Amino acid sequence: MKITIEAADAADLKARPDDNNLGFGKYFTDHMFVMTYDQGQGWHNARIVPYADFTLDPAAMVLHYGQAIFEGLKAYRDSDDRVRLFRPLDNLKRMNRSAVRMCMPEIDPGAVLETLKELVRLDAAWVPRAGGASLYIRPTMVATEAGLGVRPAARYLFFIILSPVGAYYPEGFSPVKIFVSDKYVRAVRGGVGEVKTAGNYAASIMAAMEAREHGYTQVLWLDAVERKYIEEIGTSNIFFRFADELVTPPLSGSILPGITRDSVIKMADDWGIRVSQRPISIDEVIAANDSGSLKEIFATGTAAVISPVGALSYRGNEYVINGGSTGDLAVRLFDELQGIQYGIRPDPHGWGMVI
Ligand SMILES: *Cc1c(COP(=O)(O)O)cnc(C)c1O
Repeated sequence: MKITIEAADAADLKARPDDNNLGFGKYFTDHMFVMTYDQGQGWHNARIVPYADFTLDPAAMVLHYGQAIFEGLKAYRDSDDRVRLFRPLDNLKRMNRSAVRMCMPEIDPGAVLETLKELVRLDAAWVPRAGGASLYIRPTMVATEAGLGVRPAARYLFFIILSPVGAYYPEGFSPVKIFVSDKYVRAVRGGVGEVKTAGNYAASIMAAMEAREHGYTQVLWLDAVERKYIEEIGTSNIFFRFADELVTPPLSGSILPGITRDSVIKMADDWGIRVSQRPISIDEVIAANDSGSLKEIFATGTAAVISPVGALSYRGNEYVINGGSTGDLAVRLFDELQGIQYGIRPDPHGWGMVI
């Protein structure tokens, strides 16, 4: 892929925020990657340019019919001051699966990875040094053709923006309280729940708001048909430790195939822990909690890595999980995964990539 690079003028570089107070997704770096797709021509005009507004026709199809997909991954600064990515090709391949489902054009994952690396190197000063902080990378694709009428657009924009983000748990791991929703659903088999498309997140906001009004941090989603089987937590995958078995719902078509989920399965397997991907009903969870065989619940995703669950609210009852504290396996997985991401621990699967 031929790319042009237009660096921002030194005088236009932004003031960088304090590494210790970044939050999530509030600041954006000096540059972005952009390329255009036209039917018949393919991807073209690949360019790294100063971060700036786009101009869009009010009839741009993404604004009406929602052809929009994205990815989320991070760059980490290691103790030798190098910048590392974690399984980046898996994100770009997943983006292509989202593109196919949404009738959008695929990208060349290898070529886009090279430009992503180029962009991160150009803005490498923005990769934070504070413990647990990182540079969040957001590849996105939207339909830009001007036109009304529901059909695949003929024109798209692909872009990558970068945002320095803080540690998810600046004061250490703290378990979250989760609201089990049997009123709203996130996704249904045959729908688009297994891809990262914007509408899934718009559809989830009301349930998240109601959970928050009740004092809970996130929603636990049940399956859309029976409202019985566990699917995900918010925008994360979910794991249960029952006695000595680690269990997560199978990828049955309505669950996002998380890269953190896959990494956790492989690490647990390496450690000789029995891992099952099978349907888990909310009744099984509550019965196991009552009998004491439920040891831990945690969520997995790029943003928080591992997020322990301390309590569940379901149909008006609150169930305290593991005495409301973080489980040993959650801690072990978090330390190992972060250790690999920051280049501190051995990386037997070759997941890390120094750029
Ligand atoms: C992104 C996402 C995840 C987590 O995926 P990772 O690759 O681990 O970051 C899980 N569920 C949903 C709905 C998501 O959008």
